[in-house]
Amino acid sequence: MVLFAALLATAMDIASLQKMAARFAPVEVTADLSGLAPQERAALAKIVEAARLMDTLYLRQVWAGNHPLLLDLSQDATPLGRARLHLFLLYKGPWSSLDDDAPFIPGVPPRPDPANFYPPGSAKEEIEAWQKSLAPHDRELATGFYTTLRRTPEGRLGWVPYSIEYQDQLGRAAELLREAARLTRQPTLERFLTARADAFLSNDYFQSDVAWMELDSSIEPTIGPYEVYTDNWFNQKAAFEAFITLIDGKETAKLARLSAELQGIEDALPIDPKLRNPKLGALAPIKVVNEVFCSGDGNHGVQTAAYNLPNDERIARERGTKRVMLKNVQEAKFRKTLVPISQVALSAADRRQVSFDAFFTHILMHELMHGLGPHQTAEGATVRKAMQEAGSALEEAKADISGLFALQLLVDKGALDRSLERTMYVSFLASAFRSIRFGTNEAHGKGVALQLNTLLDAGAVRVAPDGTLAVVPERIRQAVAKLTGEIMTLQASGDEERAREWLRKLGVVRPEVKRVLDKLAGVPVDIEPRFTAADKLRSDESR
Ligand code: ZN
Repeated sequence: MVLFAALLATAMDIASLQKMAARFAPVEVTADLSGLAPQERAALAKIVEAARLMDTLYLRQVWAGNHPLLLDLSQDATPLGRARLHLFLLYKGPWSSLDDDAPFIPGVPPRPDPANFYPPGSAKEEIEAWQKSLAPHDRELATGFYTTLRRTPEGRLGWVPYSIEYQDQLGRAAELLREAARLTRQPTLERFLTARADAFLSNDYFQSDVAWMELDSSIEPTIGPYEVYTDNWFNQKAAFEAFITLIDGKETAKLARLSAELQGIEDALPIDPKLRNPKLGALAPIKVVNEVFCSGDGNHGVQTAAYNLPNDERIARERGTKRVMLKNVQEAKFRKTLVPISQVALSAADRRQVSFDAFFTHILMHELMHGLGPHQTAEGATVRKAMQEAGSALEEAKADISGLFALQLLVDKGALDRSLERTMYVSFLASAFRSIRFGTNEAHGKGVALQLNTLLDAGAVRVAPDGTLAVVPERIRQAVAKLTGEIMTLQASGDEERAREWLRKLGVVRPEVKRVLDKLAGVPVDIEPRFTAADKLRSDESR
């Protein structure tokens, strides 16, 4: 989506900067605080305050020049200065991730691949060779998530634990988390907050990751160094982020209801009965939450709507991982991007049926369906290994389309409301355009294109003369079941070449889809959240 690349070569004027910012629709993201007891509300306020520090840390991790530049920008009161500052804060740096990281402020260098995790001016090869030369224990530390690499005054390489590199901010964050731990009456929350505060100072995150997996409280905070994508050299170093959220009771109950149906769905999958799993394993935990505040690596450019953590393999092996789904963020994206897309892409009758409830129920089902269907090939290899590059696009397409299959099954059984039948297919169709808009180079977009083209070929979706698309009710059920069977059977076969060929043919943007995409240019790509619940907590504090 390189819309502004041509403009970026020169210093950008206010209008261009504002146009770039307009791709993110401002929206209130809020959560209901009324159910919280006063001491929990006070604890939440402390946790949000700690989360604000992750912004400062993240800016520093991305580029050493970020803080001086921010200081500069914040002192520029001209309209141009304001527009620059707005975009800088939105992207957490002077580069636009929607435009291949092109800079939007004159005079800044290209985005540094090593970020600020490695000594300035060093070469990738030198770091790699040095890491390899170390004894195993030292190498583990030097290549670990929670160290930066620096040079001694004599020029020798060494590693610095985050607890020392970032001790100013982490010390303050630990203090705030301890204050919150003293306030809350929820034992698992108290344990996590205390353990995470300890980790900020000791640099050992293991116990606090375990405590995070065991959280069972109305407040569900994620705060600390997690994802490694900021380190574009080696994906070794973790960037700081926070997602401070509250459990959504209603959706959690719905999720439990859906989970109870899974074996029945597996037993009815439209595949050879031999490929069905007679006894599904335990489910990885999923929490449905509403976001109160997010920051750092968790808040720049396109907003995160769900995440899977922790990344540390030791925890994943011993305790598994947890998926957190941010319902109010999804809802904001739905209102600001999906509804406008449906106004352009869908027939007049279909667009009236698009509903958030159907959209979100399908997202929940998508997550659950990753656990169903064949995961091993006849040769005994895992599907993931056998399918290689094609694997993730196919797996995402499977979760989408079999999610529709499963919801239809539950509607037919009477486990879900009949009205879903009208709303879920059209909501899925609108969301298909949102995914393809992000490009068919990444797995999800490619998988969605495969589904859309298959449904078009089956006559289950048709294109009207005016270019809008509509679901064909008498064909859609059968087409969804057929494609579910085809993907799962292909996965079980482990035939990587056929998978690649299939995606090459169908994982593409066809002219009729392209015509719709071209008309979406004015529709926002994503949201720019304003956290009004977090602001309310702040005014509690100052009272
Ligand atoms: Zn998925």
